[in-house]
Amino acid sequence: MKSAKPYTILVSSLLLLSSLCVHAHKTPLITVIGTGYVGLVSGACLAEIGNSVICADIDSSKINSLKNGIMPIYELGLTEIVMHNVTQGRLTFTDDVASAITAADIIFIAVGTPMADDGKADLSYIDDVIETIAENINSYKIIVTKSTVPVGTGKKIRARLENVFHINPQLFSMASNPEFLREGLAVSDFLEPDRLVIGTDSDTALVTLCEIYEPLIAAGIKYVLTDIQTAEMIKYASNGFLSVKISYINEIANLCDATQADVRTVAYTMGLDHRISPYFLNPGPGFGGSCFPKDSQALVYIAQQEGLPFSTLQGALDANRVQQKKAVEKLSRLVNDYNNETLLGKTIAVLGLSFKANTDDVRYSPSISTINELLAQGAFVKVYDPIAMPNMQRIFPSITYCQTLYEAAQDADGIIIMTDWDEIKQMNLAHIKQLMNQPLLVDARNIINPEILKQLGFTCDNIGQSYLCKKQTEYVHKLVPIHLHRRMPFIKFCTK
Ligand code: NAD
Repeated sequence: MKSAKPYTILVSSLLLLSSLCVHAHKTPLITVIGTGYVGLVSGACLAEIGNSVICADIDSSKINSLKNGIMPIYELGLTEIVMHNVTQGRLTFTDDVASAITAADIIFIAVGTPMADDGKADLSYIDDVIETIAENINSYKIIVTKSTVPVGTGKKIRARLENVFHINPQLFSMASNPEFLREGLAVSDFLEPDRLVIGTDSDTALVTLCEIYEPLIAAGIKYVLTDIQTAEMIKYASNGFLSVKISYINEIANLCDATQADVRTVAYTMGLDHRISPYFLNPGPGFGGSCFPKDSQALVYIAQQEGLPFSTLQGALDANRVQQKKAVEKLSRLVNDYNNETLLGKTIAVLGLSFKANTDDVRYSPSISTINELLAQGAFVKVYDPIAMPNMQRIFPSITYCQTLYEAAQDADGIIIMTDWDEIKQMNLAHIKQLMNQPLLVDARNIINPEILKQLGFTCDNIGQSYLCKKQTEYVHKLVPIHLHRRMPFIKFCTK
C-alpha cells in the first residue's frame, strides 16, 4: 500500500500504466450497487466498453422491470445499450446484492447521497452498502465510490470496515471514481467524458481501474489519477462552481430586466472570452436536479465544519432560492397589470416539470417551487410534461395532470414555461392563445420569441429579456455575423 501523499497526474504521460492494464491476465467482474440514474448508466456503459457487469439493487421491482427490458428512468440511448449488452452476456441484473458482492472483483457503489435536513450529505445508503459488503466479503475486492460523497468518506469507509467490522485490510482497496454524467446526455457523457477521475492509494486498484476504462483511455480521454480525498473534492468543487455560474448569470439576467439590457447578448459576449467559456450561461428559473442543490449545500456544510467561510457558494444557493420564485413573481405582475387582480382563484398552466429537458427527474426541480408558490397564492394548477408527470404526481398528487400541453392551456389565465423541452418550444402558439382564458405567458427558459408572442396578442415576460416583451417599436438590426443569428434565432441586435 502506498502512502496517501497527494499526487495528481494529467495523463498523456501514463502510457506505461495503460500498457500494464492491457497485459493484466484476468478480466475483473464488476458489481455496481444501486441501479439508479448513475448506477444503471455506469453499469451499462462499463459493459459496453467490454467489461462483465452485474447491476444490483435492493429495489426488486426495478430489477424485475430491467430483466424484462423496461427502463426505470428516461435516458436517451439507454434502452439500446442495456439490451445490447444483456444480449451479449456482459450485463445482468439482480436484487441479490449479497451474491453480487461475493461474485465481484470490483464493487462500484452508486447509491443515492441525498441532502439531510441540516444540509450535509446523508450517507445512510452508503453505510447500508458497506455493512452488506462487510457481511459478504469473501475475497479481495476493490471498493469504489461512484456516488458523490463528502471529502473523507473513502477514509471513513476504510476505518469502518477495519475497526467496526474487523475486515482484514489486505482484503480490500478503496478508490473514488466520481461520476460527471449529465442526465439527458448520460450515455454519451459516460462514454465520452471530459475527464475521468480515479482516486486511490492502492497500486492494484489503480491498475485494475485503468484496465476497465482502457477503451476510453486508449481513445484519448483525459484522465486524472490522484488520491481519494482529492477525487472526492474534484466532484464537489465542480458542481459547486457550476452552481455559482448559473446563479451569477441569473442575477445578471435580473439586473438586465431592471435596466432594459439584453441578457442573451451579454451572456453570448461574455462566453466569447475563453476564460469564461460560453457554457452554463443560460438564465432561467434557478438550478435544480439531484446534484447541484445538494452537492453545493453539502460543500458549504463541509466548509462550515472546517471553520471556513464559503460565501460565494452560499451566495449562489441564496440567489437560487430567490430565482426559483421569479417565474411566479413575474406572472403575478402580469396578472395585476392585465386586470388588476391577483393569482387567487386563477387557473395557471405549468408547462414542463423536470429540472431540465430530456430527463424524467424532478428532484429539486424549480417547478416544485413554482407549483408551491402558485398554490400558496391560491391559484389552481394544471401541469403538463412529456415524461416527468408520474414522478411529480408523487410530490403533488392533487394538482391537475394533463395529457397534452393544449389541454393544460385550455381556460388557463396564465402559462409558465419551466422546462426547455422541444415539444414546448414547438407548440402551436396561436392555438394556445385561442384556448386560454387570458393570454398571459411567462417563459422562464427564454425559449419562445417574444416578438412572435406579442404579434399573437400575448402579454409576456421572460428572464433577462423583459425589454423585448414590453417594447412596441421595431428594432433596427445591426450587422450581426451569421453564426450569431443561428445561435440566437430570435435575438435582434438593436439600437434602443
Ligand atoms: P438514484 O436515487 O437514482 O439511485 C440510487 C439507487 O440505489 C436506487 O435504485 C436505490 O434503490 C438503490 N439503493 C439504495 N440503497 C441500496 C442498497 N443498500 N443496496 C443496493 N441498492 C440500493 O440516485 P442517482 O441519481 O443515480 O445518484 C447516485 C449517486 O450518484 C449520488 O451520490 C449522486 O449525487 C451521484 N451522481 C448523480 C448524478 C445524476 O445526474 N443523477 C450525476 C453524477 C453523480
